[in-house]
Amino acid sequence: MNLSTHDPADLDFSPAQMRVMGEATLARIVAHLAALPTAPSCGDLSDSEALCRSLREPVPEHGSDLQTLLDPLFADWIGRSFGTTGPGYMAYIPGGGVFPAALASFIADAANRYTGIWQAAPALVQLEANTLDWLRGWMQFPDSARGLYTPGGSMAMFNAIATAREKLLGTDIRVGTLYVSSQTHHCIAKAAKLAGIAHDRVRVIAVDAHYRMRVDALAAAIAADRAAGLRPFMVFSTAGTTNTGAVDPIDAIADLAAREGLWHHVDGAYGGFFHMVPELRPLLAGLPRADSLTLDPHKGMFLPYGTGALLVRDGQALRALHSSSAGYLPDNQDEFYDPAQYGPDLSRGYPGLRVWLAIKMIGAARYRAALAEKRELALWAAQELARTPGFVIDAMPQLSLLAFHLESPALATLDAQNAATRALMQAVTARGQVMLTGAQVGEQFLGRICVLSFRTRRAHVETCVQQLREEAAALLAGH
Ligand SMILES: *Cc1c(COP(=O)(O)O)cnc(C)c1O
Repeated sequence: MNLSTHDPADLDFSPAQMRVMGEATLARIVAHLAALPTAPSCGDLSDSEALCRSLREPVPEHGSDLQTLLDPLFADWIGRSFGTTGPGYMAYIPGGGVFPAALASFIADAANRYTGIWQAAPALVQLEANTLDWLRGWMQFPDSARGLYTPGGSMAMFNAIATAREKLLGTDIRVGTLYVSSQTHHCIAKAAKLAGIAHDRVRVIAVDAHYRMRVDALAAAIAADRAAGLRPFMVFSTAGTTNTGAVDPIDAIADLAAREGLWHHVDGAYGGFFHMVPELRPLLAGLPRADSLTLDPHKGMFLPYGTGALLVRDGQALRALHSSSAGYLPDNQDEFYDPAQYGPDLSRGYPGLRVWLAIKMIGAARYRAALAEKRELALWAAQELARTPGFVIDAMPQLSLLAFHLESPALATLDAQNAATRALMQAVTARGQVMLTGAQVGEQFLGRICVLSFRTRRAHVETCVQQLREEAAALLAGH
């Protein structure tokens, strides 16, 4: 299906053409998703360099037919990747991509309305505001809180740091110090740098035996910086670390932050959405006290990548950072949520529709059921591995992530244990049904299972455990 050739400046398509193209695309998407249960857990990445070199091409002078473009995309390129949407994806922090969100992205891009300022599409912006209110309710933040959608957790951290810096340091940036733990996600150091907080003002606090920030060490670091004439202004705790799933003592850190006048940010990029489930709230005690909170709907709400979120308790502080006006724009108003007043973007996509359509179609109850199930599955896997010879559990699931390593008399050194654990992750992944990754944590390489794809159900976790047992037995027998 080509653009009409008679008038090269006419870029539009006829209704009939659009229908044919839409149906061709939908047919491939549905076939792709229907094949996920048997698709490899990780695509063929063996010769990625050659593949990518072969893909380089000069800009096409003339358009191509859609079908000829979709053919290699679906037949080859999409599959040459981590199987992030498959049921066996228990690597890193899974996401998923529920189907209503894909429909919303299609609608948003096709309608292409301007949602940067409220006046341009009031109803659409209100739908986005509703979803931010729903997130606020689930996190038990006050009505005064405001938020924004970001491309991901990393940019949520950036906006949080900039907001705290503006409120607490003003223009006196160099005296400000910021506190993370050795297990904090690396994107926070990066976001700090972007927000003007240089690496020599970022303090890395030690963790306890369960990989949680040590509050005594945090207090000592704050005191040392004050004694040196610096101004501690912000601390990050994590509601579920990427390495081991550890939940920091959020409540105790909130107490210390309140005493010291620090802005307390909670990184809930992985774990925040477990707070939707009332029975699981005790696991995240203190989270609602945060000054700001990172959420990644593209993880715990199973939405497509590109959907991060930030909530800020003092909504006016977020607005104070971002609010601006211009002679060519309508006057700012106060009653309705206005994306450009609360975030750095002016022209932007419309992330709110993805969140709105997914929540409206799925409903909060099914989200809670899915999240509770993922936690149960991780607990089950941990219990099974704990009674399997050779496995040592380093971190039981606090949410839905567990970490472990291999130990046996045959593995005499730490290096041997690390090599065996690493080989175990690779051996299971190579079998094609489950994808696992580990993490170097200090001196030790830890294996991990993170259950957070909505497609991961009991049978897939059983397969994961069984294959871990078989491959571990083979590895240990080989020594
Ligand atoms: C994923 C993750 C991040 C980074 O978020 P992105 O969406 O990848 O930018 C930060 N912290 C934690 C705990 C995460 O799991």
